[in-house]
Amino acid sequence: MDFYCDEIISGKMTVDKIVETDQLIAFHHTQPYWEVHIVVVPRRHIESLATLDSTEEGLMLELIQTLAELTQPISSIYGGCRVSTNIGSYQETKHLHWYIHAGKRLRDESGAPIHSPTP
Ligand SMILES: [Zn+2]
Repeated sequence: MDFYCDEIISGKMTVDKIVETDQLIAFHHTQPYWEVHIVVVPRRHIESLATLDSTEEGLMLELIQTLAELTQPISSIYGGCRVSTNIGSYQETKHLHWYIHAGKRLRDESGAPIHSPTP
């Protein structure tokens, strides 16, 4: 089991959901690294993008459509955004998830808050 199956998909942890369907959940990252930091996860346990296969056609389409829809308002506010997913050793949680992020960086790679220098 993993964080997304155990906490998010099970509903154990309350998160700020943006989209919730039979196949996926999109929510605001609980510890955002960026001003806008959205996580999109399939409900079904799939390890990563690398293990997605053609039997997941319906899910793939819904994932891409959801990512596209979510990026539109963000792009119009921030001028753009980044969509990413990690695989293998780059994944802290071995459950396929996508990030959408935009705006100012709030934390460094270790998760420590970045404080703006005082003027
Ligand atoms: Zn999982």
